[in-house]
Amino acid sequence: VPQIGVLALQGDVVDHMRALEAAGARAVPVRRASELDDVDGLVIPGGESTTMSRLLDVFDLFDPVKKRLDEGMPAFGSCAGMILLADEVLDGRPDQRSFGVIPMTVRRNAFGRQIDSFETEIGLDGIAGGPFRAVFIRAPWVERVGEGVAVLGRVDSGGDATAAPGGRIVAVRAGDCLATSFHPEVTPDARVHEYFVDMVRSADAGPVE
Ligand code: GLN
Repeated sequence: VPQIGVLALQGDVVDHMRALEAAGARAVPVRRASELDDVDGLVIPGGESTTMSRLLDVFDLFDPVKKRLDEGMPAFGSCAGMILLADEVLDGRPDQRSFGVIPMTVRRNAFGRQIDSFETEIGLDGIAGGPFRAVFIRAPWVERVGEGVAVLGRVDSGGDATAAPGGRIVAVRAGDCLATSFHPEVTPDARVHEYFVDMVRSADAGPVE
């Protein structure tokens, strides 16, 4: 059974732990660097990316997490967690840091200008079983994806002329990193967490040579 950490400084930690367990993993909270040693993957929950960035520094966790990510530890970031995985953040605070492991530009609170929080059904590439009910809470969207980033899901931008064709990007995967603008941990549908647990399992099996 893969052991998956949930960064537990702030945000919806408990929901992610429950969803990971429902998806067949063992979930453990991560609050200090030593707790990273035992995990095969890490979830960075939703919450407030500015606060999480600050707490990562206060708890001396930023560098240890960054090191594991750079070594290839699989990660899944939802909402604020997506922001923390990005290499470029727009509308962030000047002192806000991110791990920069997914080459993408994320705009904070992006939907907020149109609508603060909403739910909609979206299709997700690589996740079978029909549309997924996606819950967006002061969510970011992705404005640029770099090389090697696969777009897994978009939200119809209903007439928003500044959006790319097909709508705003809200789910991406780059190697062993997964990120969603929305919160799959708040719905009973565990498919996104199952997808991530599978990613962790295959990463654990090592590269095929
Ligand atoms: N707006 C938050 C941020 O910028 C993210 C909101 C969320 O995680 N639900 O960090």
